[in-house]
Amino acid sequence: MVNRMRATRAHRDNRRSHHALTNIQTTVCSECSSPRLRHTACGNCGKYRGKVIIDMSVAIKKAEKKVKSKTAPAESK
Ligand SMILES: [Zn+2]
Repeated sequence: MVNRMRATRAHRDNRRSHHALTNIQTTVCSECSSPRLRHTACGNCGKYRGKVIIDMSVAIKKAEKKVKSKTAPAESK
């Protein structure tokens, strides 16, 4: 970096003034009362606005399979 291009403290801090993180907006699921992200299907029951979006029995099996495949190579070492 050429010294001429160096940003001042004020320039740097003004840029970073937009970098603050905000809290995740959650709502309570109307089906199972667990917290869920807005405008997304519930991660607990798989429903969105009363409709089943994710078949949780399949999703749980898939997640278990993923965990097994991740832990299996570590055990073999
Ligand atoms: Zn739910």
